[in-house]
Amino acid sequence: EQGGEGGEEYLFKIVLIGDSAVGKSNLLSRFARNEFDTNSKATIGVEFQTQVVDIEGKEIKAQIWDTAGQERFRAVTSAYYRGAVGALIVYDITRRMSFDSIKRWLDELSMHCDTTVARILVGNKCDLEDIREVSVEEGKGLAEEQGLFFMETSALDATNVQTAFEVVIREIYDNMS
Ligand code: GDP
Ligand code: MG
Repeated sequence: EQGGEGGEEYLFKIVLIGDSAVGKSNLLSRFARNEFDTNSKATIGVEFQTQVVDIEGKEIKAQIWDTAGQERFRAVTSAYYRGAVGALIVYDITRRMSFDSIKRWLDELSMHCDTTVARILVGNKCDLEDIREVSVEEGKGLAEEQGLFFMETSALDATNVQTAFEVVIREIYDNMS
């Protein structure tokens, strides 16, 4: 509200969406705490985590929302999407079904968020090259068709995790001016 020179404060709400078990919670824990969980019970209670990022000398608070597993029941609520200005739409490169779900997630996102939402398509688990079911080209192709940024990540070995979040944060920032 107030503050010294350049004292604007930026708070960006960013949502993680995608099928169950694609690695959303682990992408967030890797980004926010540099942690990875091998068992899948990760999401307990926490609605979001806030991470401070510096863009062009501006302090940006990225408030990243994670589901509490309700995506299993297709019951992500509108409160989850409310006020979001960015989204990571995640699939698992080893599970084609999760890639086929992306269009449904994009529909849901556009249904709940009428403003310009910075969106990146994320193909997670790229460390599992041996059991890949979705090629990089397919991921890129869908992203191009839908006008999304695209990146493959691994929450396990940390490949591109920081970058994927930063791409979205940067795009939100650029959208403001
Ligand atoms: P969510 O349901 O989308 O939140 O998915 P989770 O973050 O709970 O992850 C589901 C499972 O996939 C867990 O067993 C994780 O350990 C595993 N997992 C998540 N990200 C990766 C990754 O990048 N590589 C590998 N090999 N496993 C991952
Ligand atoms: Mg989760």
